[in-house]
Amino acid sequence: MKSLVHIILLSFFLPNIATAQEESKSSIKKLYDNALTTRKAYNQLGLLCEEAPGRLIGTPNSFIAVDLMKRYLEDLGADTVFLQPFSSPAWICHSASATMIVDGKEIHLNIDALGPSGSTPKKGISAKIIEVMSLDEVRELGREKIEGKIVFYNRPANPSYFNTFRAYSEAVDQRYWGPSVAKEFGAVGSITRSATNNLTDFPHTGSCELKGDKIPAIAVSTNDAEKLSAALKNHPHLKVNIKIDAEDIITNTYNVIADLKGSEKPDEYIVVGGHLDSWHNTEGAHDDGVGCLQSTEVLRLFKNLELKNKRSIRVILFMDEELYQAGGNSYAAYSKENEIKNYFAMESDAGGFTPRFFTIGATDSIVAKIQEYKHFLQPYGIKNIIAGGGGVDIGPLKEFGVPLSGYRSDWQRYFDMHHCANDTFDKVNFREMQLGSAAMASLIYLIDQFDLAE
Ligand SMILES: [Zn+2]
Repeated sequence: MKSLVHIILLSFFLPNIATAQEESKSSIKKLYDNALTTRKAYNQLGLLCEEAPGRLIGTPNSFIAVDLMKRYLEDLGADTVFLQPFSSPAWICHSASATMIVDGKEIHLNIDALGPSGSTPKKGISAKIIEVMSLDEVRELGREKIEGKIVFYNRPANPSYFNTFRAYSEAVDQRYWGPSVAKEFGAVGSITRSATNNLTDFPHTGSCELKGDKIPAIAVSTNDAEKLSAALKNHPHLKVNIKIDAEDIITNTYNVIADLKGSEKPDEYIVVGGHLDSWHNTEGAHDDGVGCLQSTEVLRLFKNLELKNKRSIRVILFMDEELYQAGGNSYAAYSKENEIKNYFAMESDAGGFTPRFFTIGATDSIVAKIQEYKHFLQPYGIKNIIAGGGGVDIGPLKEFGVPLSGYRSDWQRYFDMHHCANDTFDKVNFREMQLGSAAMASLIYLIDQFDLAE
C-alpha cells in the first residue's frame, strides 16, 4: 500500500521536477548568451582601471571608485543603490624607493612599500643586510645578529606546485609577519621577496602586521631578490638604503550596495560581491575590479532577462579588503544591527581567468545539495563544486551561519599580476571574465530557485 502511494506521488512530482530542470537549463543558456554578447561590464572595468587605479582605502581614487560604481549601478536599474558608511584606519603611501650600495655605488632596486609600512627620514635609512629563509631563522639568530640590520626574507614561493595559491600561502608568512618579527629582534627595516612564483621586475606589495613604532617594510621583485642575494655573497657588508613616505589616517568611507528586489521573499538577501579597493601600485584589474564587475553582472543579467529572483539579490562592492578588511567586517556588523537575513553569500576575488570551480563553505548537507547542480554548469567549464571557504569579505558572515561560496578561475597566471603594477585592464580577457559572470549568476539562480533547505 505504502509503495503504491509512493508511486502515485512520484508520478505526480517527477514530471514537475523534469520541467523545472528543463526551465533551469534554458535560463542558464540565456544567462551565458547574454553575458557573452554584452560588453557593458567589461567596458566599465576599463573605466574603473583608468579613472581610479591605486584605490586603496582613504585615497582620493577610492572615493572616485565609489562614485563611479554607484552611478553605474543606478544606470543598471537596480531597485535600491546606497552607500553603507563606516570609519576605519587607513594608510596612504606617497613614495617608496630603495638602492643597494656596493663599493660606494648605488644600484636601484625594484621595490614597493608593504601596507602599513613605517616611514623613514627624507634621506632614508641605510643598514647592513642579513638574509634569511624563514621567521624561525630570525628567532634563532636572535638580537645579537639582527639588531641594527635590515632583515631580508628570501624564501621563494614553490614553483613546482600545481596550485599557485598553495605556493603563495606557504611563502606569504614572510611578508605578513616578517616585519614585526624582525622588529622584535631590533631590526631597523625589513625586505621581503615578492610572494609570486614568477621571476620578474615587478615588486608585489601586500599587507603586513605592524603596529606602534613601525619600521620600514618593503617587498622586492623576485629578479632583484636574486640580484641582492648574489651581491651579498661577494659583498657581505653591503648596505641597502630604504626611503618611504607614508602616513596613517582615519577615514570615513563606504561599501557600495545595490539591491534587485525579490518577488517572493524580498527580505532575504543573496549577497554577491568583490572588493572595490586595490593596492596603491596597481590598476587592480584582476584583483579585484573583475570581481566587482562580475558581481554587478549578476544583477544586470537577472534584471535584463527578467528571471524573477524570489529573494533579493544584493551586490556589495566592499571597501578595504586589502589593508584591514574593514568593509567585510562593517557589513557583518551592519547586518547584525539591522537584523538582515543574508540567505547566501558569494564572492569573486581570485582572478578573472577561465572558470574552474566554486567552493562552498556551509554544512555538509548544504554542500551536498549545491553539488547536485554541478551538471548544469559543467557544459560551461565549471568542473567542480567543492567544500571550502567563501572569501575574505563575506567571511565575517560565517558566524551567523550564512552559507558562503567562492568563485575560482584558473590560477596559473594570477600571481603574475597579484598586488603589482602588472595587474592592468589589458590582462583581462572579455570572454573569460564573462564566463565567470554567467557562472556566478547561474549558481545563484539555481540556489534561489531550488532553495537550500536541509
Ligand atoms: Zn583581492
